[in-house]
Formats: sequence, C-alpha cells, structure tokens
Amino acid sequence: MSDVDDGVGAVGASDSPDNSVGDRVHRATVEFGLDGADAERLEVVVDAAAAVPDDLGDVVDALAEPDIAEAAWIRWSDEDLLGEPLDTLIDRLADIDDPSACVTWLRARHAAWHGRTADAIELLDAARSSGNRLVLSDLAAVEADRSNPTAARELLREAGADVEIDLDTAFDPHAADRGFAQELAEEIAPFAALRPRPMAGRNDRCPCGSGKKYKQCHLGRELHPIEDRAGWLYVKLMRFMQVNEALLPATIGDDIVDAVTDPELRQMVHDSYLTVDLALFEGGVAQRFLDARGALLPPDEADLLRSWISATRSVYEVERSRTGTMDVIDLATRERKTVVDTLPDAPLDAGWKIIGRLVPVGDGHRAYGGFLPVNDDMVGAMLEGFASRQLETVALAIGQIFESAATHDDLREAFDEGLDMSALDELLAELGGAADEPGAGPDVDETELS
Ligand SMILES: [Zn+2]
Repeated sequence: MSDVDDGVGAVGASDSPDNSVGDRVHRATVEFGLDGADAERLEVVVDAAAAVPDDLGDVVDALAEPDIAEAAWIRWSDEDLLGEPLDTLIDRLADIDDPSACVTWLRARHAAWHGRTADAIELLDAARSSGNRLVLSDLAAVEADRSNPTAARELLREAGADVEIDLDTAFDPHAADRGFAQELAEEIAPFAALRPRPMAGRNDRCPCGSGKKYKQCHLGRELHPIEDRAGWLYVKLMRFMQVNEALLPATIGDDIVDAVTDPELRQMVHDSYLTVDLALFEGGVAQRFLDARGALLPPDEADLLRSWISATRSVYEVERSRTGTMDVIDLATRERKTVVDTLPDAPLDAGWKIIGRLVPVGDGHRAYGGFLPVNDDMVGAMLEGFASRQLETVALAIGQIFESAATHDDLREAFDEGLDMSALDELLAELGGAADEPGAGPDVDETELS
C-alpha cells in the first residue's frame, strides 16, 4: 500500500513540504524571484502574523517593498492566515506614522477580505498618488468589477503591467500564473479593445437596470451587452476567490478524489472548472463576492449573479445536441433548457445523462463548470445530493462518479456500453482543461463581443 500512498501524496494538494527556515527562504527566491536578503525579510513579515513583534521596525521596512508585500499576501493565503489571523498585525500597522503605500495597500486588502469594500477603496484612493503598483492594480480591479475596462487598463498601464495583450491567444484564468496585475490585464483586454455600442436613446431608461435615464447613467461609459459580460462576471468571481480564498478549489478537489489513486485522474479533477464552480457556488464564494462587491457591479450584473446563486446543480438528459446549442431536460424539475456557448466540443447523443450547474444568461443557459456524464443508476443519488446545496454533500455525490474508477480507463468502463465513448473522452479531456482549448470555463473571446 505504501507505493500507492506515495503516488497519491506526490500529486494531491496534501504534499508536506519541508518547512525549515532555510528551505522556506529558498522556496521564496524561486516562487517570487526575490534575492536571498529579501526572501529572509519576507519571512519576518510572514511570521509577524502569528506573533506580532513589539518593535514593528523590520516589518514596516520590509513591507515598503511591493515585491515583499505582494509575496506576503500570497504566503498568508497559502498558510490560511488571511482574515482574523491578520487582525492584530493590521491594527498595529494602522497606528504607525507615515505608512508606506504598500502598508496602506495591505490594510485595504485586509478590509476587502472582511467585506468592507468602501473602506478598502478609500484607503486605495488615499494612496493613489504614490504611483505604487499594488495600489494601482487593486484600483484597476475595482474598475474591472464596475465593468469599466478602459479605466482599468489605464491604471494597469500606470502600474507597469503589459496591457498590449495578444487577443488571439486564449486566456484560461484557472491555469494562469502570471501574477495579479498581468492576469487582470488579460481579463479586461478583450473588453478594453472594443468600444461598446450606444445602449439606448438619451432620454430612455438606462438598460443597466439602475432605473435612471441613460443620459444620467451610462451615456459615454457604455457597457458591453450582458451576454458578453456574463463570462467576464465568472472571471471576476474567480479573481475574487484567488485573492481571498485561493485554497478552496484544491481542497474540494481533494474531497472529490479522496478514494481515487490514479494520478492522472486526480490531476484531471484538480485542473477542472468543476472544482472552481463548486467553490464559487456550494462553497459560498459567489455569495461572499456579492455581499462584498455587489455594489460595484452594474445593476444588471448584480441581478444576473443573484440568479446564478439561486440556481441548483442538477442532472440533465440530453434531448437534442447541435452545433452551438444543446437542449436538455432538468431531471429535478422536468424543465427544458437550452445551453449555449459552454458546450462540449463533440455533440452528445440524445438520452445521455450529464451533471452540471446551468445558470441563466439572457434567453439561454450556460454551464461554466462543464459537464460530466453519469449512468442511469446514479441519477437519484446525484439529484438528492445536489438538492442539499451543501458543499460536502455535493462533493461526496460527485465523488461517487470517480470512486469505483482506479484509472482514467476504468472511468470509461464504468459507463454504460451504449454511450459513445469518443464523446466521453472529449468531455473528460475538457474537464481536464487542455490549455489550447479550454472546453469548460468562461469564454471571453473577443470574437464574441459585438
Ligand atoms: Zn446605467
């Protein structure tokens, strides 16, 4: 058994790294590109969360460096120390005279973590003139959440990010690892590149849902159509999760593949948008985002997000699958729904049962978390688990799909022989999120913008 256990440990998120100080410093030089001296200063800052020193001098000095401050946030996140564990340190930092812009940024991040977004923006605005790249990047994120991509792009440019993005290269936010500012530049690029059309006549009611006249609302700062902003909204949720609750998808992935030993199968689940989707909805991150940052969203986007949160994961029977759309029946409610944009590459045969979480967008539905096939004999258990809307229960239900499968090939064999196996392979490949063509997940390809 020890061979199997070793194999699992090497792949899952449960690695136990050597935590001696020397190794932590070395890892910081590799992970954050810090030199040895700065990596040691980072350790001083990171350790200050658990034991705030009486003399904050070294911590404050180190935090004046944006590279160290940014790395500290990521390390606290990795060690699950954001939020309450930071309260004492942040309170002490709030009392120091003449704080660096990075200290103000850190206080803003902490306020935002606690859902105090207005306080966070006030802090960032106060440090705006410093030109500090962390402050400017987080202000850009505020503009992005407001669906104001040109303002976000200007702030990112000033922050030193590369905003000249090649729009022909797909951006996969789940796999991205280029840092906060650069990923934000990727996120907004297709929207900043195309100026939206006028939305209404001057004296018409503004289509954003604010209730104001167009000329008093979005005239001159037009929004992209809500159908295009829907995929962007999903990326905003992912960005919020990456800053505030980055560990959650991996933790959920561990739960789902608890009984799975095949490294490929485990990795596939961890790389998938399924874990992202579970974290956002059953895991409560989308609700937390709405509570904290809903006031920044255009009103129609906030309404859209509320409708997404109230949706329930379900089992669907494929009724008709064509290029561009798929008609399904929700087996919990018998409702017929049409899925667009987030479709499997290969059309599925009528009669397939698939699990997913459909959310409404305009007249149709989308499934950003992708689909997984299930056998007929699993349908009842899945519906029962999903109806609970409880993360652990839903993850346990989905885990049953993988439980009997020791390997990727076993998973295929676990399904009825009547299923078209090439289509199953396509679905599984998309679940694994091939870098070139992510099947599931939000699509903000610029060619879809009008
Ligand atoms: Zn408006």
